[in-house]
Formats: sequence, C-alpha cells, structure tokens
Amino acid sequence: MGNTVTNGNTDSSRKVEEKEKRCFGQYKCPKCERRWSSGNTWPNMGQQCEKCLIFVLPYSTVPLENFFVKNA
Ligand SMILES: [Zn+2]
Repeated sequence: MGNTVTNGNTDSSRKVEEKEKRCFGQYKCPKCERRWSSGNTWPNMGQQCEKCLIFVLPYSTVPLENFFVKNA
C-alpha cells in the first residue's frame, strides 16, 4: 500500500461533503480487461486505462475511512 493521506487532519479546517469523499476504487477496463485499483478515487469519476486511453468508472468504491478500518 503506497497510498498516503498527506493532508493530516482536515476535518475541522475543511468541510467535505459526504458524497465528495475520497475512496479506494477498483477498476476493470472493459476493453483490455486490465484491472487496477486506486486510493485516489472520487465517486462518479473515472480513471484512464493506460493502455486503451479510455475512461473507466470504478466497479467498486470504498470510502478510505472504512477501508483503513477494515484493514487495521
Ligand atoms: Zn484497457
């Protein structure tokens, strides 16, 4: 896991809406079937397949908070 949250505690200094929370997302390209995951996923935002250069929406997103709890 090389993903880090570098901003520290931002809960009081910055209000982030529930919907806008960063997630851990899992992707699968429908074209080349390449799979990858990203700890920098936002709901409703796709990532580009490096091979096909098309945008792919995550098939699974877990809010980072929950993800870290689960893996603690
Ligand atoms: Zn692809």
